[in-house]
Amino acid sequence: MSERTSNIERKILRALEKAGEKGVIQRELWGMLGVDSRSGARIVARLERMGLVKRKRIMYKGKATYLLKIHEEAKIEMKILEEIKEIPCFTCQYLDICGEGGSVTPEKCMKLLQWLERAVEQKSKNTNTLTVYSNR
Ligand code: SF4
Repeated sequence: MSERTSNIERKILRALEKAGEKGVIQRELWGMLGVDSRSGARIVARLERMGLVKRKRIMYKGKATYLLKIHEEAKIEMKILEEIKEIPCFTCQYLDICGEGGSVTPEKCMKLLQWLERAVEQKSKNTNTLTVYSNR
């Protein structure tokens, strides 16, 4: 998603994700994000073409506008992107010299090991939650 979407597009997607099922009235989104309506409408139309946003035409306070909601696929992509951003290698000062056979290697890296342990623990918690729900 990061290659496909710009900064303002990601802000729109985050706002829609936060709004959840109730969605956001398109006209109100511009004020929330400080975007003019013409640019905003163009950006949202692009997000809709990409399959990341759903638009439904509605009447709101006597004027035609759109109710915007995020697509499930976009939610999953955003979650993956957030998880990837937490990988320590992306912000590591040793990234250029880290590698097999060197003095700095992923096998000896405590930061990477701790990140992996947290990720495994988190996945384990999520799996347990799913198991509890499926046993009901
Ligand atoms: S494995 Fe460790 S040392 Fe190597 S780039 Fe990743 S965080 Fe940095």
